[in-house]
Amino acid sequence: MIAWTMAHLGEFELIERYFARPARRAVLGVGDDCALLVPAEGMNLAVSTDMLVDGRHFLSTVAPDRLGHKALAVNLSDLAACGARPLAFTLALALPQADPSFLAGFSRGLYAIADRHGCELVGGDTTRGPLTIAITVFGEVPAGGALLRSGARPGDELYVSGTLGDARLALEVFRGNAAASSEAFARVRRAMEEPQARVDLGIALRGVATSAIDVSDGLAGDLGHILRRSGVGGVVDVDALPRSADLAAQSEAWQRECLLAGGDDYELVFTAPADRRSAVAAAASTSGTAVTRIGRIEAGAGLRFVDGAGREVIGPAASFDHFRRDPVGPAP
Ligand code: ADP
Ligand code: MG
Repeated sequence: MIAWTMAHLGEFELIERYFARPARRAVLGVGDDCALLVPAEGMNLAVSTDMLVDGRHFLSTVAPDRLGHKALAVNLSDLAACGARPLAFTLALALPQADPSFLAGFSRGLYAIADRHGCELVGGDTTRGPLTIAITVFGEVPAGGALLRSGARPGDELYVSGTLGDARLALEVFRGNAAASSEAFARVRRAMEEPQARVDLGIALRGVATSAIDVSDGLAGDLGHILRRSGVGGVVDVDALPRSADLAAQSEAWQRECLLAGGDDYELVFTAPADRRSAVAAAASTSGTAVTRIGRIEAGAGLRFVDGAGREVIGPAASFDHFRRDPVGPAP
């Protein structure tokens, strides 16, 4: 729970206390006008930015350490989708107040996931304002080896990591539209607030996957990006979509909505040639990540949905769009 308290902490004191750890891999980290990074020989620098805004990307009920975790996780997820290995990140923070208890929790959660992925904080900017967290991550990937949205080919098979839909289910329980036991709610809430970035899977899929994207706005919409960028169509078996027992306990309609148009999943959707099934299985097992085959790529355009018996079913109306649908407002 974010409860702001007034405190007398200046901008530089704040940076010094919570965000100025010595750089280990970067040549120069926090404290000068720029940070200095040295990508390894033969590697491309992979760069991505994601911003989290209070009331739009998270609810003020989130614990500060989970918010610190999520702010970096959503960025690492983009590196994962490219098959890049995390190196470093910068943190731009707007804070209503310099609140030590918020900052202690936020930085604890942030550093915990940063350390787990060997990704160090090398700079940033700090200002007063409505709570907003913008992170830019830097990673490295072999030149020519990045996983892109544009590489899917007819005949490729479609896969997704982990399970889908729990984060959306948590949001709907918060909104009062869905019901769950307190144990189930705690689990799906954790999926929403503490997503895992599939970094190891992304790296293991280099040279195996033909395309990839991370699911941040819902499977249907994000897979649509792969299809358009690749100039192909796709078919997804909705009954094959991996879901938690908590989501499986919901109505069929909620399950479909959360699975296909959920958002905030941060799982990887990717394609691989049909003759690379064993290589996909090896990538899943070396990275310790569950991977499920959910459909295939076909010639043409657009995304079709079928059930386990192969019958066409209707897909979701829309995927998440910040300018069309309000993520934490009342249900549509
Ligand atoms: P500048 O005046 O060049 O913008 P600042 O005074 O804003 O620099 O920041 C001083 C140093 O602290 C810089 O090295 C900057 O990268 C770092 N810094 C500022 N805010 C943060 C933050 N939230 N996290 C990490 N480093 C930060
Ligand atoms: Mg500055």
